[in-house]
Amino acid sequence: MNVTAIHPGATLGVLGGGQLGAMFATAARRMGYAIVVWDPDPEAPAHRIADSSLIHPFTDDSARQAFTRQVRAATYEWENVPADLCEQLERELPVRPSSRVLRVIQDRIEQKTFLRSHGLAVPAFSTLTSPDELGRQTVPPFPLVCKTATAGYDGKGQWKIRRTEDCPAVQQELARNQRPGSRWILEEWVPFERELSILVVRGTDGQSQTYPLVENVHEDGILRQTVVPADVPQAVADLAAGMARDAVQALDGVGVFCMELFLMADGRLVINEIAPRPHNSGHYTLDACTVSQFEQQVRALCGLPLGEVRLLSPAVMLNLIGDDVRLVTAAARDLLDVPGAILHLYGKRVIRPKRKMGHISFLAPTRTEALAAASKFHSRLVPTQASE
Ligand code: AMP
Repeated sequence: MNVTAIHPGATLGVLGGGQLGAMFATAARRMGYAIVVWDPDPEAPAHRIADSSLIHPFTDDSARQAFTRQVRAATYEWENVPADLCEQLERELPVRPSSRVLRVIQDRIEQKTFLRSHGLAVPAFSTLTSPDELGRQTVPPFPLVCKTATAGYDGKGQWKIRRTEDCPAVQQELARNQRPGSRWILEEWVPFERELSILVVRGTDGQSQTYPLVENVHEDGILRQTVVPADVPQAVADLAAGMARDAVQALDGVGVFCMELFLMADGRLVINEIAPRPHNSGHYTLDACTVSQFEQQVRALCGLPLGEVRLLSPAVMLNLIGDDVRLVTAAARDLLDVPGAILHLYGKRVIRPKRKMGHISFLAPTRTEALAAASKFHSRLVPTQASE
């Protein structure tokens, strides 16, 4: 692929203005690019970093024309932006990853079918096109998990089914949320030992690089903590890197991708999902790597050489969710005393339960010390102490 590079000084566009869009915009501005953020929510954090903003619905044609006039290339901060919009933009400018890749990834059924057809391990699954089918397809072994095919994230739009008797309640939920064309995926609940993820970056020249494998801990379907590097045998790390590269090459994707994996007791890896963008579990790269996932997003978008993915220090990333942010701001003087702690708050004005409000990276000479620092911090993060 012979692609014209887009050099610093040009204007780049990003669809979606949450923290991921803001971190992309910050990296791009540092590298000398101007940024247009398009997000219908006026409170979206990335608007504050943008050179200019569009606060229109993604279906607004005049906003699309204005965006197209202003930017040389575009990307997005999450996979639930409309693929139709990306396809329309693509007629005028590069969109990376492409709308074709986005369409495969944003539908769980399409994504898993694609991965499986390329010989990559995914959980056993079947497809539901109506809530009634749930009863017929819900057969042991339990548990199973039913997910909306599109638009779910952070455990939203997911129902665990532990036994046949759970079906009527889940069926009602599906019916309540049903839209024309709604589909669901019914997956086996994978009895994983640990959850891992890996970032892979692929440039316009087809070359790819992987970051170190990391280990993730989730609470209520939301990422709480990431540890890098993962404490796994080298063979597992190599297997993950190979799977991530193969998947993104099969997609012919250009940009930053994150593959989420389940590690089985026997050392096998099963893919949970791929995100076509920088990922929360890759936030450690901001503080602990030579080049962050967001700078790579800029480089891949602009057809520049990819940056080095070297890990400079073991790290633990702890998400600040919902009210955590109140506790941290109230007790910042004590909490930030923990050596190696680096604070990132996203500037979201409204605190909601389960909302990602910020994160803290803990860097230390060893993974054990980084874990100890994160755990010390976490144990102090309790309301009574914060209000003292
Ligand atoms: P997802 O939104 O699909 O990434 O799911 C959020 C979290 O739910 C995952 O990180 C897992 O902890 C859990 N999960 C989702 N699907 C499965 C599955 N098939 N088996 C076991 N755990 C799952």
